[in-house]
Amino acid sequence: MNINLKQFEVWFVTGSQHLYGPETLKAVALHSQEIAKALNASGEIPVKVVFKPVLVTPDAITQLCQAANNAAKCIGLITWCHTFSPSKMWINGLKQLRKPVAHLHTQYNRDIPWATIDMDFMNMNQAAHGDREHGFIWSRLRLSRKVIVGFWQEKSTQEKIGAWARAAAAWADWQTAKFVRFGDNMREVAVTDGDKVSAQIKFGYSVNTHGVGDLVKLVNAATDKEVDALCKTYESTYEMSADLRKGGKRHKSIREAARIELGLRAFLEAGDFKGFTTTFEDLHGLAQLPGLAPQRLMADNYGFAGEGDWKTAALVRAMKVMATGLEGGTSFMEDYTYHLQPGNKVVLGAHMLEICPSIADGKASLQVHPLGIGGKADPARLVFNTPAGRGLNAALMDFGNRFRLLINEVDVVAPEHPMPKLPVAQAVWKCRPNFEDACAAWIYAGGAHHTGFSQALTTEMMEDFGAMAGLEVVVIDADTKLRQFKQELVWNDCAYGLKSGWAC
Ligand code: MN
Repeated sequence: MNINLKQFEVWFVTGSQHLYGPETLKAVALHSQEIAKALNASGEIPVKVVFKPVLVTPDAITQLCQAANNAAKCIGLITWCHTFSPSKMWINGLKQLRKPVAHLHTQYNRDIPWATIDMDFMNMNQAAHGDREHGFIWSRLRLSRKVIVGFWQEKSTQEKIGAWARAAAAWADWQTAKFVRFGDNMREVAVTDGDKVSAQIKFGYSVNTHGVGDLVKLVNAATDKEVDALCKTYESTYEMSADLRKGGKRHKSIREAARIELGLRAFLEAGDFKGFTTTFEDLHGLAQLPGLAPQRLMADNYGFAGEGDWKTAALVRAMKVMATGLEGGTSFMEDYTYHLQPGNKVVLGAHMLEICPSIADGKASLQVHPLGIGGKADPARLVFNTPAGRGLNAALMDFGNRFRLLINEVDVVAPEHPMPKLPVAQAVWKCRPNFEDACAAWIYAGGAHHTGFSQALTTEMMEDFGAMAGLEVVVIDADTKLRQFKQELVWNDCAYGLKSGWAC
């Protein structure tokens, strides 16, 4: 499932007023067009940036906001006040606007022309106060937006717009997304469960369950010819031992895995689903716990999580959309086991099988091994290491009165020792600020054991996404101090308690 971010538009919207006369407004429009064009051409911004005529009346502002709401391709607005746009004019429009906004606080002219500056220059380049008036009305209306400050030609400014645009694309994707669960939540597990009705109200996406038998029908419908072709693809894509290849004595396991992938793919395509969950507790009629199939489907940008964890499946999908075109992969992940050597404490992340090969360091190896749980035939899975470098884990929990997005920045390290007996894909990382504080903070925050793991995304992108989704965003990074972090959780509980009417 290819994701094309260029299908999305953000509208570049400049606020002004009639006060300055037609000549100035003409210049404002030309300057805005030039900025929009530069942003559209920027390699840092993955979506189209579309110039919209300068807004000078309340009606024009309201109409623009309504048009943005109704334009499927429009995923957000970039607003800017080159001159001054009295903000009462914006109230009715902003009250109706349902698309994310980045308020770009920039100036057309980079430098003050010290020798020649006069009042004409001042009146043209007055974002310094025009954007303050604009910011007030957003704050007064208690509306969420991203404020981006910087010169429009500067890379760091464009990067911030790019991060926001990626988040807006993922947010737009969620609005129409459908996720399917084969079977329910893993019995008795709390953090992977949650309120699907609340999620749909807040996030737009739907989550519905199908009996695994509905999937089994399509798995059984896969033809031998299709299975042959897919097995050929496996053989040309992955390292495989001779006994798993065609003619080998364990080739049957690979064929079963191929059949499951074909059935799953057919099911997801027929239902236009953007992600799914499985559970080892509900596999009636399937020969194996799906391992290879979720791995390959994640690599094709489907969201996935195990054990019925629909929140994480949806999160992984959003992270996949945000990561489009960036270096580094994104996967479903679970904090699995620890190495507690003083001075070198690391987390080994993995799952029973289902880690996305987009994070593989080199060619993955396709293997078949027994699985201790589920009581099914030995499942096929891709086994690989994850390359060293920056990364993050993100988890989404339902706290009853709001959803919390928790992010921990990590540094992935190359495994110091080979793990020849570990039959799953894995990643090894060090947590920021350090193992003890990061894990304590994660646990104080009620962070899930399931996460979306990414070596492509930045915390900024995740925070932008969280803001659009109305999530409580809590970050554990190099600056985290545990005492303050615990206080932040208490304050957040109070703040969200006030917002929702829950006692804090
Ligand atoms: Mn799990």
